[in-house]
Amino acid sequence: MAPLKKFDKFRDIQAEIDRSGSAIFQDANGVEALIIKSPYQINYIHSYAEDSAFFLGLAEGHLLGSRCTNKECGFVYATPRGHCMECGEPTAWLELPKGGKLHSWTTCHFGSEAFLKETPYNLCLVEFEGAGSLLLARLKDCVESDLYVGMPVEARFDPKPKYSITDVWFVPAKGGSAPPKAGSSGRGRARP
Ligand SMILES: [Zn+2]
Repeated sequence: MAPLKKFDKFRDIQAEIDRSGSAIFQDANGVEALIIKSPYQINYIHSYAEDSAFFLGLAEGHLLGSRCTNKECGFVYATPRGHCMECGEPTAWLELPKGGKLHSWTTCHFGSEAFLKETPYNLCLVEFEGAGSLLLARLKDCVESDLYVGMPVEARFDPKPKYSITDVWFVPAKGGSAPPKAGSSGRGRARP
């Protein structure tokens, strides 16, 4: 039997583990450890707690944001947020518009296991009228060359909801405006 390959950088072991299932890691003191690959799966039971209404809303085709209850502040977040980041007061739910504008995007050529089948895919930040923060979601049914900052987009909801943030995504709005002339579009720009 051929001796196991040795590595002194753990990241270099990954490819060998994928290929053969085992390797030797030699640390800075010369100590050698046998590294093997074995399946691992858990079911993670957890609570959405006060964010629950957001996910229940997605399942019914509603996009919920949160508004600060302090009348002097009234900041609107395009995401669940229990308390206001501006003034610290509690927030209340409000329904966001189904449509917004493309604030920025990125095309992902690699993703976590849940997204590998869709790779490459677009992630976008969406602006909503009246909201002071952005929502991160996938952007589907488009090619990257058609995208521009400010492009109207519309929410789509998974008809078989999984109570996950992936229950919502965006597509270019039907009848959306033509892209602006060269020089006024951009990619990946975001306000600080
Ligand atoms: Zn506030």
